[in-house]
Amino acid sequence: MDERIKGLKEKIEDAQLLLIGIGEDFQYDWGALLQDARYQEIEREVGEDEKHIWIVPFLQKMILQQMQKDKWIRAYDVLAELVNGKNYFIVSLCMDDRIYESHFDQQRIVTPCGGFRKMQCDRNCSGKLTDMPLESYEAVLKYYRKELPLSALQEPTCEVCGDKLRFNQLGVSKYAEEGYLKQWEDYTKWLQGTVNKKLCVLELGVGMEYPKIIRFPFEKIVFYNQKAFMYRIHPVVCQLGEEIGDRGVGIRENPVDFLTKGFVK
Ligand SMILES: [Zn+2]
Repeated sequence: MDERIKGLKEKIEDAQLLLIGIGEDFQYDWGALLQDARYQEIEREVGEDEKHIWIVPFLQKMILQQMQKDKWIRAYDVLAELVNGKNYFIVSLCMDDRIYESHFDQQRIVTPCGGFRKMQCDRNCSGKLTDMPLESYEAVLKYYRKELPLSALQEPTCEVCGDKLRFNQLGVSKYAEEGYLKQWEDYTKWLQGTVNKKLCVLELGVGMEYPKIIRFPFEKIVFYNQKAFMYRIHPVVCQLGEEIGDRGVGIRENPVDFLTKGFVK
């Protein structure tokens, strides 16, 4: 086994608590969708037309539901096995919800950028999240299978104000933070319990897109907690701040590959 992986396993086993940050480099790349011939045809038909652009996230949802054990799920499975039995918490910037398909305790995950599990009014007029209207999803699927023309599709709307209904994720006009705040509260409470404890911090593919959610605060946690140790695994920006000293290791690698290839036997 790779020495680095052996070291990481030992640190995890030795730790009382385990804090995991998953970043944008772990996000699903939509390859299966982009390479799909029917999807390419749809892209041409929809074009730049604002009117139909709403169906794209529905097609993303479709492809997510069709995906089987690809490398992302395998990576999550490896991670789930690593943390099994430990007191852990995971913060993830990914918006693909794939982490929820693996064997983690869902109470120990927060995904502050949202995903595909709920929908919201584009301008969050009421602070309410709703379930995806199945009839809209099914209509898009029918269009994908060429059983319905594009003109038959109708964008779902907010029941309160009539504006667009969109998936509850960053990028909508006014993001409804209601979707993750309860979990975030649990996370901050959990963090308070890490003070002076042997904490292992594992950062997987967290870059500079939203450094204030994971990267900066994690460094700060390790800086203040002398018993903490940190792993930063990233294909490019894997350096650690000087103030961390020898209480951290940076590994220049793609985090998905690191987990799937590194831990095989
Ligand atoms: Zn509304």
